[in-house]
Amino acid sequence: MVDVRIDLHTHSTRSDGTDTPAELVTVAARAGLDAVALTDHDTTVGWHEAIDALPRGLTLIPGAELSCVSRENSGRTVSVHLLAYLFDSRSPALVTEQRRLRVERRSRLHEMAARMAADGLPIDPDRLLAELPEDAPAGRPHLARVLVSEGLVANVDEAFAGYLGSGSGYYLPRCDTPVEDAIDMIAEAGGVTVLAHPFAHSRGPSVSPSVIAELARRGLTGLEVDHPNHDASSRSELRELAGELDLLCTGSSDYHGTNKTIEIGQETTPRRVLDALAERADGSSPVVG
Ligand code: AMP
Ligand code: FE
Ligand code: FE
Ligand code: ZN
Repeated sequence: MVDVRIDLHTHSTRSDGTDTPAELVTVAARAGLDAVALTDHDTTVGWHEAIDALPRGLTLIPGAELSCVSRENSGRTVSVHLLAYLFDSRSPALVTEQRRLRVERRSRLHEMAARMAADGLPIDPDRLLAELPEDAPAGRPHLARVLVSEGLVANVDEAFAGYLGSGSGYYLPRCDTPVEDAIDMIAEAGGVTVLAHPFAHSRGPSVSPSVIAELARRGLTGLEVDHPNHDASSRSELRELAGELDLLCTGSSDYHGTNKTIEIGQETTPRRVLDALAERADGSSPVVG
């Protein structure tokens, strides 16, 4: 059989990547990929642009990476990213939840900006909100850019280190979707879900195997095993867990353009795994270029 290359996790300028969706599919084809999933954070607005620019021979898997929260048995909450594929983006429950998140993210950002303004920092919370892009989720990166343009810090990294980190007095937590609800919502929208980089320990506390088992019972379809943030022992642990829980194992680069040093197609998913995902989904279809 010919070698088929599939990357199931990439970001465009519609979230925090640096390639537009059209550029991203061009880069994917040039890298010799046969299929690529567009999985912007919490949005599907890039899908049609990627489809319109799809090069001949490349298949686009419509997707998203949903910011979720999981409650461990200890009561501690852990931030979890859930990859969702081949769902209907117009599904009512999904649309309602995205509206809730959009509203809550905007008021959180306004409150963080108000705290900074009250401290004498040169930020106008109302102006910040008025200037936010309509179709992208409001987040700390927007606030970081204001701090840079006002000359308070040299770059976005310094803004996070000095003002926006979770240890800062200006920080407010997000109201992310409980991961169980997100799994239900995507299933209702005809899609499938894969837990993104579950053991990327460098990103903060990770979800425990017992919670992964609960999510599997809830309808989770797979685990992203081969990911640049996973070392060899995390990969073998996850593969074993996936075997026990009857979950599919995917591999993907989590490409962000020049925002990260990872190449598109650096990690890949076997064709039989993509076929199995597609077989279980009927909310939207892979688009063949
Ligand atoms: P929020 O969703 O508002 O909590 O912001 C989180 C987003 O900020 C993440 O998705 C990252 O893209 C970005 N971010 C987090 N930490 C940093 C950092 N140190 N430097 C640059 N961007 C960051
Ligand atoms: Fe990202
Ligand atoms: Fe992620
Ligand atoms: Zn990602």
